[in-house]
Amino acid sequence: MDRDQLKAHLQFAAELGVAGVSRDPAWRARSEPLVLRPLDELRVVPSNVEGRQAQDERGGGRETQHEPVTDPSPRVMGESNHEPASLFKRSADALVAVRTEIGDCTRCKLHAQGRTQIVFGVGNPSADLMFVGEAPGGDEDIQGIPFVGRAGQLLTKIIEAIGLRRDQVYIANVIKCRPPGNRNPEPDEVAMCEPFLFKQIDIIKPKVIVALGKFGAQTLLRTLDPISRLRGRVYDYRGAKLIPTFHPAYLLRNPASKREVWEDMKLVRRLLQESEN
Ligand code: URA
Repeated sequence: MDRDQLKAHLQFAAELGVAGVSRDPAWRARSEPLVLRPLDELRVVPSNVEGRQAQDERGGGRETQHEPVTDPSPRVMGESNHEPASLFKRSADALVAVRTEIGDCTRCKLHAQGRTQIVFGVGNPSADLMFVGEAPGGDEDIQGIPFVGRAGQLLTKIIEAIGLRRDQVYIANVIKCRPPGNRNPEPDEVAMCEPFLFKQIDIIKPKVIVALGKFGAQTLLRTLDPISRLRGRVYDYRGAKLIPTFHPAYLLRNPASKREVWEDMKLVRRLLQESEN
């Protein structure tokens, strides 16, 4: 962890109410023991898509085995385990092909409703960790990069709080164009755009996907359950473990929920670590 990451980590901890750090072991004593359950005990829930074909087409939950790690070279947690250079190049090329396929998209009405540009996705093309948000907002629409506004800055802090940099993960949205006035994406827009997200996921092959907020989680998991019910569980999703959590924009309005997000992110970190063993 470098100096900037440590700073971000401490800042995030401070926002969660951690008042200081000490090397004194006595300082670590807790009134209640911290019990980290082994992963096997976590509830792993298949996602809610009917039928095998529908699963393959649309990204539903199937049980998959993670491949054993064969590359013994040291690596940063969260970066891909498999032939890093060639995999990176293959995935990067494949993502460029998807971006080319999208083109100057006119498939749904959003193209005529004030979008400046398509916001495709950003980050490591073979990342172990992927974040999926809802749709670009105003800042993202201008810059062409997901999560660069206030919510994006908080997302960056959250990423750094688990010891990763933004460029080590991949960040995308369900919808690639800004809905007017940041309204919720509509079903026909989702139907047109989500196949491109599924292609991104299948190319990147993340080990863990974090679905940010109600919309991302409900879209990926094909459910109308509220995010409060969806979070706190691990779902099998398109070969990855999917963890729904609160959207950073929601956290800006409800800072008290950062604590739950921190729990979710600790789980993310543990899943990534276990996938490397
Ligand atoms: N909110 C999202 O869901 N995505 C972005 O890219 C920015 C804000």
